[in-house]
Amino acid sequence: MQLQDKVALITGASRGIGKAIALRLAQEGASIAVVYAGNHQAAQETANEIEGLGRKVKTYACDVSDYNATGELVKTVLADFGQVDILVNNAGITRDGLILSMKEEDFDAVLNTNLKGAFYLTRHLYSHFMRKRSGRILNISSVVGLHGNAGQANYAAAKAGLIGLTKSTAKELAGRGVTCNAIAPGYIESDMTAALPEKARQAILGSIPAKRPGNPEDVAALVAFLAGENASYITGEVIRVDGGMGM
Ligand code: NDP
Repeated sequence: MQLQDKVALITGASRGIGKAIALRLAQEGASIAVVYAGNHQAAQETANEIEGLGRKVKTYACDVSDYNATGELVKTVLADFGQVDILVNNAGITRDGLILSMKEEDFDAVLNTNLKGAFYLTRHLYSHFMRKRSGRILNISSVVGLHGNAGQANYAAAKAGLIGLTKSTAKELAGRGVTCNAIAPGYIESDMTAALPEKARQAILGSIPAKRPGNPEDVAALVAFLAGENASYITGEVIRVDGGMGM
């Protein structure tokens, strides 16, 4: 088990992609801090499955868009687990609409959760990683951050911002043995994509060379690789998991 004795803090781990990442890293031997917004039942179900794998797990309700709350979260997780080796910034939301009608609060909400949340967690764990001289930071971006998307200016801006954050973090921490990479999933089946209108869903599916939607486990497999020792010389990268959508 390549992640034995490692501790992973994963945001948005109650459902979807974050849950699959939590389970995959637990299968690889890691203990897991499950961070979520408010869905206590889903978080508890994730925790039960991780416990079933024989790993240590704790759940933390925390709004990642709140600087002070994320600071308290990091303190509590470090007290509970003694260390954090892997940070996965996965929590994300959408508030779609054309720019013409997009409310400022919808732009801010998406930037605050999807981009500033990742900055906050990185900021609060920065000195911990520096002292340890090791660590893995994985930021879950999106192909939309690479290409843009009509109706998702806020989301695309946040996801593109995550790529800049990733490369800057990677440059600052590379000399300390800490890597930081971004993953750009394409269309992945989850509660987020289930909310799309059927017509939009079919249009996206038609644009995937692999001729199938991705599943959360497709993303989790890459996170597990990047979190492990075999990826110690890979940093500042943006890797797509999109069935060829971006070719
Ligand atoms: P889901 O909507 O299925 O799950 C979102 C998760 O984020 C939940 O665990 C939710 O917690 C948590 N969350 C939301 N807001 C906050 C917050 N403010 N603070 C803490 N946690 C929060 O999303 P997906 O699994 O589909 O997406 C996961 C990530 O992958 C997102 O960043 C998304 O943008 C990205 N992505 C997804 C793609 C897809 O096709 N699905 C494609 C490309 C990128 P709770 O359960 O408590 O609400």
